[in-house]
Amino acid sequence: DVQEKSAIDKSAIAPRGASGGADTIAAVSSGSGGAVAVLRLSGPQAGAVLVALAGRLPEPRRAHLARLRHPTSGEVLDQGLALWFPGPRSATGEDMAELQIHGGRAVVAAVLGAVLDVPGLRPAEAGEFTRRAFLNGRIDLTEAEGLADLIGAQTEAQRRLAFAHAFGHLGQRVEEWRRRLIRAMALIEAGIDFADEDDVPAGARALARPEVEALHAELTAALADRRGALVREGALIAIAGLPNAGKSSLINALAQRDIAIVSDEPGTTRDLLEVALDLDGHKATLVDTAGLREAESKVEAEGIRRARARMAEADLVLWVHDVSAGPAPEAAPSLETERPLWLVANKIDRAGPAASAPAAWPVRSFAISAAGGQGLEELTRALGGFIATRAEGEHPALIRARHRASAGEADSHLTLALEQWERLDDELLAEELRLAARALGRMTGVIGVEDLLDVVFREFCIGK
Ligand code: GDP
Repeated sequence: DVQEKSAIDKSAIAPRGASGGADTIAAVSSGSGGAVAVLRLSGPQAGAVLVALAGRLPEPRRAHLARLRHPTSGEVLDQGLALWFPGPRSATGEDMAELQIHGGRAVVAAVLGAVLDVPGLRPAEAGEFTRRAFLNGRIDLTEAEGLADLIGAQTEAQRRLAFAHAFGHLGQRVEEWRRRLIRAMALIEAGIDFADEDDVPAGARALARPEVEALHAELTAALADRRGALVREGALIAIAGLPNAGKSSLINALAQRDIAIVSDEPGTTRDLLEVALDLDGHKATLVDTAGLREAESKVEAEGIRRARARMAEADLVLWVHDVSAGPAPEAAPSLETERPLWLVANKIDRAGPAASAPAAWPVRSFAISAAGGQGLEELTRALGGFIATRAEGEHPALIRARHRASAGEADSHLTLALEQWERLDDELLAEELRLAARALGRMTGVIGVEDLLDVVFREFCIGK
């Protein structure tokens, strides 16, 4: 900020605002093994510690090259960049200091050790910087979640969605909904408060209704839009076909080509025979239905039920057909659920070109050899394109299950309010709108979220 005065006064390092009384925390915020390590401090003592180590308080938000000395022994520990971010306009809203030092293990241990030796300093817990940013009103809860997603983003589509989310897209939309709801509520409450007076606009209720109807329609549309889940969780692609068609070979071939993400979450790969991949920048999970059949004898009913449920929600089914065994059947196979279906004619290396002619069924088809690799690139690109098309458009409003739950709760209060509009008295009507606004407020964290904080911030690593 160019407006910021460079003069430093003592009050700059005194506790201020929301940081007053809080502990000062410190942690290494960079990953291990890099040439440079970033150490961050937040809290009322951050400035004093920086002065003790670097000799002076740098100009706010400017890098300052400094010898870093042990505050008591005076021994030089390293030379690096020191930065000073006075609160409340810092990332956490508190006074913050950042040191960029050499990334060697001994250097980091010496500098962090010296910082933590200062009485009152303690190591930060996982996600504690972000948690403080939330508690001090620097970011809302959806932005905190977006940051976690941004740090964890593995595909390009996830990065884009998380970035928009981390920088307020979702929070702003939800806050706008909530403000409109509060305005409608105020109209109705005006009717309550001034019930005996004559100068209340007679049609307060009538004025509020179109606004509530519009909000209800927007929430319902947001709930119906599953793109957020598609990008964040990935598209679910089921691989189906007769035994020996080459389903496992296709999955292996795709997994080997796009090994970027192979699910290591326990319970997913084994129980559901799923493989998570990066398909041309989009996260996708392949479900092997052949494995499902084999597993039926071995795995208990619950596992199979879950696998079936996953199949039923597949975004796309790939029907693998072995062209060396004859042309594709006349009609598309009837699947248990109606999902978009593509035909994948496999083993073209074993059959003449006639065999790979498109099937009679009106679906997109591909001619490949899972074993030889022909056609796989085209299939991969098409799959990426399929997910991209489904995920495109304005960023979706709801991303996580938590957001859907809050929006669903708000939506049901609005449904009830609209259904009972004429029957409910003013007070009960306003109460339904208040409950809807509360549910939305929980999404951004402006209302009663103490119980959610541990869940949200547990996702972060230490130093964030
Ligand atoms: P699944 O039962 O549908 O999972 O089929 P598999 O992937 O186990 O494949 C059945 C057999 O077909 C195996 O022996 C594979 O090696 C073979 N196979 C799979 N894809 C191809 C292919 O593109 N060309 C040839 N020649 N053989 C293939």
